[in-house]
Amino acid sequence: MQNIRIEKTTCPKEKPGNDNPLTFGTIFTDHMFEMDYEVGKGWYDPRVVPYHKLEMEPSCMVFHYGQEMFEGLKAYKTEDERVLLFRPDKNIERANRSNSRLCIPEIPEDVFLDALKAVVNVDQDWIPTKPGTSLYIRPFVIATDPFLGVRPSYTYKFMIILSPVGAYYASGLNPVKIWIEDEYVRAVKGGIGEAKTGGNYVASLASQVKAHDEGYSQVLWLDGVHRKYIEEVGAMNIFFKINGVVVTPDLNGSILPGVTRNSVISLCKEWGIPVEERQISVDEIVKAGKNGTMEECFGTGTAAVISPVGELRFGDDRMPIGGGKIGELTQKFYDTITGIQLGEISGPEGWIVEVK
Ligand SMILES: *Cc1c(COP(=O)(O)O)cnc(C)c1O
Repeated sequence: MQNIRIEKTTCPKEKPGNDNPLTFGTIFTDHMFEMDYEVGKGWYDPRVVPYHKLEMEPSCMVFHYGQEMFEGLKAYKTEDERVLLFRPDKNIERANRSNSRLCIPEIPEDVFLDALKAVVNVDQDWIPTKPGTSLYIRPFVIATDPFLGVRPSYTYKFMIILSPVGAYYASGLNPVKIWIEDEYVRAVKGGIGEAKTGGNYVASLASQVKAHDEGYSQVLWLDGVHRKYIEEVGAMNIFFKINGVVVTPDLNGSILPGVTRNSVISLCKEWGIPVEERQISVDEIVKAGKNGTMEECFGTGTAAVISPVGELRFGDDRMPIGGGKIGELTQKFYDTITGIQLGEISGPEGWIVEVK
């Protein structure tokens, strides 16, 4: 693999000021990473180039059959101006698991990490520093063969784009209301639920629209076979604290294995808090919601890190949680993980990778 070529922009964009609320995923930096793939040649020409539009044939396979993989992670700037990535190795491993499920060629791990560092380094002045802000990193691969037949593409493009982001929820760390979906399903075991890919998101839209219309901000999915067991929220994994025990659904083949999920479980173990990864039925949740043993509930994901849940709704059952307040443990996970990400708290070995 050759070194990453760097071509800097000659007309840098104006950066959003410190007062800009940085609505999630709307502003993009001056540069992007790009690398191409051809069967027989492998991945070639890794480069950081000015952020640009793509010119593609309308027949490109990604537009028709959705062969694409994406990832999401963040870069943070510390008070002494160091640039940190949070557990990028986990995202890289997961990207290649997604790739293999989606018949996309794997990306060498060292090349992937170098690509992340190179593009973040070039655009490091774009990393916002106000509390709650960061630089969201979106790596993705698309199938580029101009062909309408159905088979894995022979050519691909891997890109990384960067977006300065504020707190995920404009309202700050406030409890969200979640709709437990019993009509649509997101994924089934053996399908692509474990892969981070657009197809899972388009499958979720109809339900999300319905939940929004009812005044709920996210959907909690049940398993696609029995429609009985809790899986995960739209773009987050879900945790409950019931009777002093932290519980989350086990990775059963249709749940996306979140890096934040994994981090919360590790912290529970480090802190000696009982944590269980197991099947959780919606009946158990409704019961715990009604009999007062549901102490806390929160979602985990890179974008919002920790999202307190203030109400769950299943059919006609409404289960308020925490009386409009953020749970004590929920807050502790948020403070600890964001503290580690910002380099203010030292986390477990290897969680922080510095970009130099
Ligand atoms: C990305 C994602 C998550 C959260 O994963 P993190 O690695 O914690 O960001 C959860 N569920 C789905 C469906 C996702 O796509």
